[in-house]
Amino acid sequence: AKEKGGNIYELYHPDMNMRSMHRLNLEIELRKAIEREEFMVYYQPLVDLTTGSIFGMESLVRWKHPEWGMVSPGEFIPLAEETGLIIPLGNWVLKQACIQNTKWNSLGLAPLCVSVNISVNQFMQTGFVQFIEDTLKQTGLTPNLLCLEITESVAMKNVSFIMETMDKLRMLGVQISIDDFGTGYSSLSYLKRFRVHTLKIDQSFIRDVTTDEDNAAIVTALIAMSQQLKIKSLAEGVETPEQLAFLRERGCNEIQGYIFSTPLPAESFENLIKEKKTL
Ligand code: C2E
Ligand code: CA
Ligand code: CA
Ligand code: CA
Repeated sequence: AKEKGGNIYELYHPDMNMRSMHRLNLEIELRKAIEREEFMVYYQPLVDLTTGSIFGMESLVRWKHPEWGMVSPGEFIPLAEETGLIIPLGNWVLKQACIQNTKWNSLGLAPLCVSVNISVNQFMQTGFVQFIEDTLKQTGLTPNLLCLEITESVAMKNVSFIMETMDKLRMLGVQISIDDFGTGYSSLSYLKRFRVHTLKIDQSFIRDVTTDEDNAAIVTALIAMSQQLKIKSLAEGVETPEQLAFLRERGCNEIQGYIFSTPLPAESFENLIKEKKTL
């Protein structure tokens, strides 16, 4: 499908398969989307199991494409990572989340902690700590009301650089969570060395925690281990009362999942906090 000069279709070769065509198209659209500001941030409540109330929220990016509609992050985050677009996108999400949280906290409701997903590339970029510091200053957000969610795969490469960055972030006063715990390759010893605040137990373990003995054992062990290390445990993807009861019994500190709420646009999330919804 060759079109007039300068058009992207000229890049196509007969041997290019459908998948790479789709990918190319997606990458071009993704670049445009950043310029056109087609992204939105949704917020999903994080709930304290002791009080049953919201103590924070995870920011989750959404892409509102003019023709395709809502595109889920599972479809474009991996490509954004590969192409480096995750850096401008991730930085944008972080800034929005800080602006939003400053607003919510100024409403005089209980202070909320906003979590932001940080990709490996973003974390490793030079000037990342400075960017966090600048963003906190610009948005006026109290550092301990920002939590960075870092996946364990970060922890594998370049340990001393990571340790240094983690230390600087901790000195700034921001919180750190290890995301999707149990799915990557991290060594348990990193948990202690990085002195993270929260361990997020991946939803793949929670999904059938009440029916699968192995997952039940893993979740039980992860909660017990985080208690020993004095790290908070948060279970992701909690959907049923049975899962909730299981986690409560074992002393899990916090949950996130459809049982309480799906991720919501800012206005709807604000209504939830105003209602003072509890579990
Ligand atoms: P994640 O960080 O593990 O985020 C949790 C995902 O689980 C979200 O999917 C959320 O909607 C979903 N979820 C929450 N509760 C439940 C539940 O009870 N049941 C089920 N089945 N799912 C639940 P989402 O929003 O589609 O995001 C997918 C992934 O995309 C995220 O996984 C994260 O890895 C990535 N992502 C999202 N936003 C960002 C971002 O701003 N930056 C980066 N780097 N990654 C992001
Ligand atoms: Ca996350
Ligand atoms: Ca997660
Ligand atoms: Ca995940």
